[in-house]
Parts: sequence; structure tokens; C-alpha cells
Amino acid sequence: MLPDIKSLAREALEAQFAAWRQPAYRVTQLLDWLYARRAAGWEVMTNLPQSLRAKLAENFSLQTLELVRKQGTADSTQKFLWRLRDRALVESVLIPANPALYGEASDRHTLCLSTQVGCAYGCKFCASGLDGWKRNLTPDEIVEQVLAVERARNAECRMPIENQSGAGQTTPHSALRAPRWIDNVVVMGMGEPLANYDNLLKALSIVNAPWGGGIGARKITISTSGLVPQIRRLAAEPFQFRLAVSLHGATDAVRNRLMPVNRKYPLLELIAACEEYQRQKGRMITFEYILIAGVNDAIEQARPLAALARKLFAKVNLIPYNQVAGLPWQRPAEDVCEAFLAALKKQKVAATLRREKGGDIDAACGQLRLRTERELAHFFT
Ligand code: SAH
Ligand code: SF4
Repeated sequence: MLPDIKSLAREALEAQFAAWRQPAYRVTQLLDWLYARRAAGWEVMTNLPQSLRAKLAENFSLQTLELVRKQGTADSTQKFLWRLRDRALVESVLIPANPALYGEASDRHTLCLSTQVGCAYGCKFCASGLDGWKRNLTPDEIVEQVLAVERARNAECRMPIENQSGAGQTTPHSALRAPRWIDNVVVMGMGEPLANYDNLLKALSIVNAPWGGGIGARKITISTSGLVPQIRRLAAEPFQFRLAVSLHGATDAVRNRLMPVNRKYPLLELIAACEEYQRQKGRMITFEYILIAGVNDAIEQARPLAALARKLFAKVNLIPYNQVAGLPWQRPAEDVCEAFLAALKKQKVAATLRREKGGDIDAACGQLRLRTERELAHFFT
């Protein structure tokens, strides 16, 4: 199988083009096609010589994701189901920060990315644990989620597009520059991102690069169930990515019950790794805390949670559990969630609670659960 062109950083392309005795500006042209115009095939790259396009096609694949299903409308949360080359399915979710309630354009969009097919970590409440782990996504499959959503979105919205190929030429849609929709990325879809560390970092460095996706590192959040060595490794990287830690329990007793990973990396070790991240990157940590009835929603749990949050200057996102068919866990009553939030706030912790309106609940799916615009916006304030 050929390596995919969207798994290569600029430097690797420059080295390849130098070896082919191609001038350096050809790399800029290629990157423009891939990431600014989101080209879906070599044939549209009309300013590259035919011989170079043939050489590229011989040596690299240029894969795009096949859209199988789309849910939601352009002004609300949209869920995209993709088929990969081995026919495995993954999802991405596009969430507007301020949904266009009155017909105006929603102003900011966050894309939730998947990094694996399935997940090996088997958290007891999570739909992906049910089917186990199938494989890691390749860097291009992660990057392509950003491009494919923007491609689909622009096609759907029929945005005015700028024809780059000169007057009088007809250019396929995929060859046109079009507006970017995605301002923020959260790696909270299917899979444990830090278990696919190398591919994740390669992909995010492309999503982040000015010549690639152009999304600032502080607008990229990685969510982890708590892989301690990888958190420490990430702390030493030059990127300022935000970290969201799926805590869900503020004591080992509660966390062990929900998340097998806690037996390998108990809270003391996890918090020490988070402190390291905090030290290196500043106040960039968020705790995610799903509220599950009778498991972690007792008001006494708010005290140890608040202590951990204060120690790390972390924000806490409370998420009422989304029911998963076949699993016994329940979401607590609304007043229980509100009381838990109030207890955290009383203890001087920055915390938010996702409050869903009836219809929105439908947006949550087995693996990629959705967050409200308010909650997601919280990551970036
Ligand atoms: N594996 C990573 C990222 C993907 S899961 C992690 O665990 O952080 C993203 C978030 O969704 C995690 O906080 C996870 O605990 C949460 N989640 C999983 N199933 C859920 C459900 N049914 N309801 C609410 N949140 C859920
Ligand atoms: Fe995997 Fe995250 Fe689900 Fe746990 S919560 S099973 S780590 S995807």
C-alpha cells in the first residue's frame, strides 16, 4: 500500500521533491491544492506538470473519506459518518458554538475527530468499549476528517467560491478555494487518542501547520482517559495543545469501577502527570466528569473533585450521562446535576454543566457523544 500524501509534513515533501529535482515552489503549489483547495484527486492540480502528477500518483495515495451518512442541518450540530478504505466506519461531529437560531450564520465551529476504529480501554459506560479495538487511524485519515467536513460543508452551503484556475477555464468543485469552517478541533471522538500517539501527533501537526489546516494549537484539545506516560510525553512536545482528562471519578474507588485504565494508572500518578503538563503548558487542563446516577453524583464527591481541580487550576465540565443501549448506567435527575455543579462552584472551581434541550439528546450517538455549544465553548474561553 502506498503512503498517503496527507501523512507527510512539509519537510518530508520538500526532501522528496528535491530528490526528484523539482523546484521548491512546487511543494507550495501541492500544499495549496491539498489543504487550501482540499483537492480530492491529482487530476485537478492543473498547475503541476503532468509528469509530476504521474510521479506523485505512482508513489503516494490521495485518499478521501467516503461520506456514508450525514445527520443534522448546516445550522445545527452535524454528524458525519465516514467509510475508510478497509470499509471500517468512523464519525466526525461538527458543532456550531452559536447555533443560528434566527437564520444568521453561526459564527464558530468545532470539529470532533476520531482517532481509532473502536477502543481498547473498555470504560464501562462507553459504547466503544463494547466492540473492542479494531485499528489505529493513519495520520491522513485523521487530517482528512477536517478536509472532508469542509468539502461537504461547502458543497452543501454552496458558498461563493473563488476560481483559481484563470478566466475561461472550467474547474471542478473540488479544485476551488472555499471558506474554512472549522476553528476548533477536539479529539474526543471514537478511540483513545494517546494510544495512537505517533499518528495523532503527525496529524495534529499538519492540522496545526500554517501550510496545512492552519488551526492554532490552543484551539486543539486532546481528550484522554488518562494514559500517564503519554501525557508526560505530550508535556515535553513543543505544541501548546489543550488537554481534557476524562476523570469521571475523584477517588480510585469510583474510578476503578468505571475505568479499567485506573488500575494501571491510579489517580495519584494521573494527577502527577497532569501537574507536569500544567507546569509545561500553563492553565490548559479541563476535567471531564460524566455524572452517572448513584455512581459518582453524590454531593460528597464534589469535595475531592474540587480539590483535584484547584490543585491543577483545571476547569470541570460536568456531562450528564448519555444513555447507551444495553448498558445499565443512568443519568441523574436534573436537580442532582445542578446541586453537584453548585457544590463545585461553592468550592471556587470553574465548572459548567451541559444542559440539553429535549431534541438535542438525539444528537448523541454511541461513541461520539455531543456536547452543547456552551460546553464546548468552555474549552476555548
Ligand atoms: N478516549 C478519550 C476520548 C474519546 S471519549 C477519552 O476517554 O477521553 C470522549 C469523552 O466522551 C470522554 O470523556 C468519555 O468518557 C465520554 N463518554 C463516553 N461515553 C459517554 C456517554 N455515554 N455519555 C457521556 N459521555 C461519554
Ligand atoms: Fe475508550 Fe474514551 Fe470510551 Fe474509555 S471513554 S472506552 S477511553 S473512547
